Amino acid sequence: MISVEEALERILSHIDVLEPERKPILECLGRVLAEDVHSAIDVPPLDNSAMDGYAVQAGDTHGADESSPRHLTVIGEVAAGSIPQETVRPGTAIRIMTGAPLPQGADTVVQFEDTDELSRRSSGGSLTQIGIRRPAKQGRHVRLKGEDIARGDLVLKRGTVLRPQEIGVLASVGHPTVLVIRRPVVAILATGDELVDVDQSLSPGKIYDSNNYTIAGEVSRYGGIPRILGIGRDSIRSLTEKIDEGMAADMLITSGGVSRGYYDMVKDVLAQRGEIGFWTVRMKPGKPLAFGTMSSMEQGRERKVPHLGLPGNPVSSMITFEQFARPAILKMMGRQDLAKPTVRAIIEDEVVNTDGRCVFTRVAVTQRDGRYYASLAGPQGSGILTSMARANGLAVIPETIARVTPGDTIEVQMLDWTH
Ligand code: AMP
Ligand code: MG
Repeated sequence: MISVEEALERILSHIDVLEPERKPILECLGRVLAEDVHSAIDVPPLDNSAMDGYAVQAGDTHGADESSPRHLTVIGEVAAGSIPQETVRPGTAIRIMTGAPLPQGADTVVQFEDTDELSRRSSGGSLTQIGIRRPAKQGRHVRLKGEDIARGDLVLKRGTVLRPQEIGVLASVGHPTVLVIRRPVVAILATGDELVDVDQSLSPGKIYDSNNYTIAGEVSRYGGIPRILGIGRDSIRSLTEKIDEGMAADMLITSGGVSRGYYDMVKDVLAQRGEIGFWTVRMKPGKPLAFGTMSSMEQGRERKVPHLGLPGNPVSSMITFEQFARPAILKMMGRQDLAKPTVRAIIEDEVVNTDGRCVFTRVAVTQRDGRYYASLAGPQGSGILTSMARANGLAVIPETIARVTPGDTIEVQMLDWTH
């Protein structure tokens, strides 16, 4: 028997980061940057206005107030996207819109609210003059050239996980494509003579395959590309055929056939393709687990495809996926932080750990008065997938803890917190 940590460590030691590829930035959400990105431009490219108002010389506004505004001659107007033609000289102002370049000669912007523009308009007065009602400091409401990004700056470091804001930053420096780590193609295979695909009719003794669907969702959720191979039957021929199809992928995930009864057959099939180990992991649910690497020759080079054999019970397969397949996929995508996000929560039900395994308990986590609480999400049998559907967390009861009682603080992996 090995611990969850040991099993994960062994699996990750066989997982390599995939190669980079160049992609349009819109396709890069959640991907890891494989190059340093420097800016070839200043952002913003020119000094510009942060407000709608008047570009003036600060000196012209000294002593201005509500009752004695300073009057300036309006010599033009500049909108965002155009270049001002006139120069602001003492006694003059240029009407300016947010984002428009600051005209020559101006050193500050007075916002509309601090001028008499509105009262002039409502009284039908002339707009060739403007009254400034408050003194303005130099540089006020002016965004400086390069204040966000200076030309030559390192804007994003290799290894950065691209979120919407990073994708926006890439756009803002004029980078339409970027080098990112490739997404892994993950082949998915359910095994079992009892399984029927969802669009077939059920005959006596059969059940619908749910694992392929759950696992495909999990693979997509963490950034992989799922390729469902279908259902492998409990025969050497069927399994061999399906597993060979999986060799084209970056990783193969099977479910079922790892418990005692099928041990030999799956082992025989996989042993022909590479190395396979069957482990008993001290975790509940999900004790039996298989892991190996299959080898194939591709263009004269040996290619290794990791294979993870999850237990067949729907909850066990999902929980073992979360613990082992998720970090493997993230590692392939170049992610550094592989730990599932957790919160400390107060448990509201008793959980008994009968045989010294790490127990993953399905819980519903709620927040009240600034604290997290976790209550059981229903019956905990490893075939009861609906309690997984009612759960948003997995409480982790360590091997060494025999019992937790209501009020105890426990660690909960948040299922829907994907990063
Ligand atoms: P096994 O690991 O193959 O012995 O399967 C353990 C249990 O999980 C059995 O009750 C199977 O019927 C069930 N099971 C296996 N694979 C699936 C699947 N793809 N979908 C739903 N249940 C499954
Ligand atoms: Mg089976």
